[in-house]
Amino acid sequence: MKVVVADNAGFCFGVKRAIALTREVVKRKQIVYSLGPLIHNPQVVEALRKEGVKVISKIDGTEEGVVVIRSHGVPPQIVRKARQKGLEVVDATCPFVKETQNFVKMLGDEGYKVVIVGDKDHPEVKGLLGYAEKAVVVNGADEAKKIRDKQIGVVSQTTQSTSKLTSVVDVLLKKVEELRIFNTVCSATAGRQESAKKVAKNVDAMVVVGGYNSGNTRRLYDICKAICSCCYHIERAEEIEKEWFKECKVVGVTAGASTPDYVIKEVCKTLGDM
Ligand code: SF4
Repeated sequence: MKVVVADNAGFCFGVKRAIALTREVVKRKQIVYSLGPLIHNPQVVEALRKEGVKVISKIDGTEEGVVVIRSHGVPPQIVRKARQKGLEVVDATCPFVKETQNFVKMLGDEGYKVVIVGDKDHPEVKGLLGYAEKAVVVNGADEAKKIRDKQIGVVSQTTQSTSKLTSVVDVLLKKVEELRIFNTVCSATAGRQESAKKVAKNVDAMVVVGGYNSGNTRRLYDICKAICSCCYHIERAEEIEKEWFKECKVVGVTAGASTPDYVIKEVCKTLGDM
């Protein structure tokens, strides 16, 4: 079976940076905490745990050491609290997420109701909400219809699709007096989704590799599935079943932002051997 790997599959710049910053801290042999799993990939989190990175869900019980803020970012109140407790903070927030946080703050300070297009349960969005008092999350056009304010600023969770941002903006345009939009869908995400679409159009089956808890991988799967109905989301090569590809001559592979290269290679090798 021929295997075609989509461009831009796997680790993005922000994830690579967060892992590199964390490993730098590990070298100093200090107690290292990551506030939430560093990335949405259980295999990588386990590897980091073995290197000495302890995942914590809050800083309350932590008295000393270094806290790494993952690429998703956190509300500013949490960074302040960590510093007040005397913890060293290593901020691995992706610069694209940081920029979005700055837009949210600026819009909030200027009196806009901030609309964040995204998933309210995603850590990045929870972090963004901490940057403005008047901020709400909408996860699509239907939810946007409920907005009543007249002066609105819009940003997007960095890993959402541009089409979802556009659908929300379309609704808001018809009902508000003033609308400011910052397209904060990150270029890595947009590039990955576009490359996956191109491949999905030309293959018999598509395999999307990434953590089941990774929102951007799930969206990548939805995008591919809409184009290529024979589509599978897996975390590891061992999950692949031969009978999925009985009728296939060409299979496409893409991967979410937190999928390491070695996992993509293993998947391609397994598929290629079939
Ligand atoms: S997906 Fe984009 S915003 Fe998110 S960590 Fe990667 S580069 Fe940064």
